[in-house]
Amino acid sequence: MLIQVMGGPNVGYEEFTFPDGQQHVTLAADVSWSDVVVTASLCNADDLFDLLLVTDILHNNHNGVHLRVDYLLGARMDRRICEHIHDPYKTRLKLTEPTICPGCGAMYQKGRWRWTAHPPVDAHKEMCQACHRAMDKYPAGTLTLTGGFVDSHKTEILHLVRNQEELEKNEHPLHRIMEIEQGPGRIVVKTTDIHLPRRIGEAVHHAFHGDLDFHYEKEAYLLRVNWTRES
Ligand SMILES: [Zn+2]
Repeated sequence: MLIQVMGGPNVGYEEFTFPDGQQHVTLAADVSWSDVVVTASLCNADDLFDLLLVTDILHNNHNGVHLRVDYLLGARMDRRICEHIHDPYKTRLKLTEPTICPGCGAMYQKGRWRWTAHPPVDAHKEMCQACHRAMDKYPAGTLTLTGGFVDSHKTEILHLVRNQEELEKNEHPLHRIMEIEQGPGRIVVKTTDIHLPRRIGEAVHHAFHGDLDFHYEKEAYLLRVNWTRES
């Protein structure tokens, strides 16, 4: 079995069997929250069981899992099973390179979106998934900050939120804040991706303590992060 971060390195894994006969798998690196491609050949029941263990770990680590079965016992060898990308906004077609998003100006080149100071004049034009989501008002992530502390420290919290967005967005143009709603004892940050709310939530937790928790719905490609502190 091959486990690979999409567009990135292979991830090793170790298998061992507990004394009572239970099998266990450990990944050699922490690849939480990334898209991962698993390529497996299923020749017998043990192979299938290993694959189930690995996909279970990846799902628990909030990975988007793309499964490729090279060989499936009992099926024709040229048949493939593909579990598709969970993010419904992510285009399944390969974009022409270079492509410029008319919404935000990001450029798609060498397989990823990046910022550019000099967009090529002959570039294709297609809207990126972050701009699509913003247009549809359909966030992938929400971070809800609640409690009395939010009112007494609103300026510092909002500054931290924007600062974390800036850092993330520099490297990942499609990880952005779509909207910030404010109410009494409450700030709700809606994002175009599922990475940013976690990053901001962790930064807020690090700076101001309080309670932080995450809920990820992989079927809906939706992450909800909640943070709360009363005083
Ligand atoms: Zn865009």
